[in-house]
Amino acid sequence: QSPSKSPPLPSPLRFSKFFQSNMRILVTGGAGFIGSHLVDKLMENEKNEVIVVDNYFTGSKDNLRKWIGHPRFELIRHDVTEPLLVEVDQIYHLACPASPIFYKYNPVKTIKTNVIGTLNMLGLAKRVGARILLTSTSEVYGDPLIHPQPETYWGNVNPIGVRSCYDEGKRVAETLMFDYHRQHGIEIRIARIFNTYGPRMNIDDGRVVSNFIAQALRGEPLTVQKPGTQTRSFCYVSDMVDGLIRLMEGENTGPINIGNPGEFTMLELAETVKELINPKVEINMVENTPDDPRQRKPDITKAKELLGWEPKVKLRDGLPLMEEDFRLRLGVSKEN
Ligand code: NAD
Ligand code: UDP
Ligand code: UDP
Repeated sequence: QSPSKSPPLPSPLRFSKFFQSNMRILVTGGAGFIGSHLVDKLMENEKNEVIVVDNYFTGSKDNLRKWIGHPRFELIRHDVTEPLLVEVDQIYHLACPASPIFYKYNPVKTIKTNVIGTLNMLGLAKRVGARILLTSTSEVYGDPLIHPQPETYWGNVNPIGVRSCYDEGKRVAETLMFDYHRQHGIEIRIARIFNTYGPRMNIDDGRVVSNFIAQALRGEPLTVQKPGTQTRSFCYVSDMVDGLIRLMEGENTGPINIGNPGEFTMLELAETVKELINPKVEINMVENTPDDPRQRKPDITKAKELLGWEPKVKLRDGLPLMEEDFRLRLGVSKEN
């Protein structure tokens, strides 16, 4: 057979596309609130293949609806407290309930998820040589005695309280990350996430922003837990996802605070939701839960300097985006 009759060779462009190495990325907890937004962003890059593992405790397949069946996407029902064998280049380890009512519901399971789950993901990272990012939390600062909280602050955490399964669980997860890094040379990244809000939050998960928006839309009183002067700083989910990806792609292990430094009292938040969503609702003061941190605000100097990151979406701009999603899910139209 003469060479002229053989099939044409692929053009250099096709060839390079064929051999281009795709990045295979595992997202644990990817069916949850932040995880599903992260998956959306990662899937935008055609070089990424995304594998989600989730046990659907607080997450839902619905959050990933648009990717199911996509050739670069895979969804596995799996509990991270069990060993996992997959071949990946990067691991975003988010699996863990984040809302107090869910993590307190089965505290033993919560601490197992944080400790055994993180150990398993580190064992996996070690076996396959993957880089792993842990979504830790501002709760590692407990009820902070320093304000705002820099990453150097070691925190003020009750080790035996009802929140400890989460706070101390995340603290041990951070310890495991650094021990695997120092002992086994694993490439680690730790994000300390501050309160995040946005579309796809569980409507009745008890967190303050989702509670207030759902209450305002249902015409129920907004429940401000006493004293109402406690503060939080709320980061819109698209800013959060951007920060997490920058951290993963950057050169710093962290821990790095990722959050919005705009600080509000819970009474101010209630007033804002009332004004923006339903001026007719009342604001009721109700009993609080134990060990509620009195103030929380990230010092994001490190994120700015090392990741070139800072949040863009203000609370007043983010709340209406979340309102839109909650209206659809609750079936409450704008006229009502
Ligand atoms: P979420 O509850 O919506 O998502 C967590 C996901 O993990 C869910 O899909 C859940 O089903 C899954 N999951 C829980 N236990 C699991 C297990 N044992 N095995 C497999 N999957 C499991 O919460 P989120 O707000 O998206 O939080 C994601 C991560 O960010 C968590 O690690 C959380 O601790 C951290 N974080 C969130 C906030 C916040 O304000 N949302 C603040 C600080 C830290
Ligand atoms: N592990 C896993 N997937 C892997 C490799 C390990 O889930 O691909 C789990 C493993 O079951 C173990 C944990 O990760 O419980 C820690 O693994 P490592 O190899 O660090 O420790 P060892 O197995 O030696 O205790
Ligand atoms: N909170 C409130 N009303 C609610 C739910 C929560 O006033 O309906 C308060 C709660 O006391 C806390 C703050 O809002 O001071 C944030 O609570 P959330 O559970 O959202 O997050 P976390 O305590 O983990 O920061």
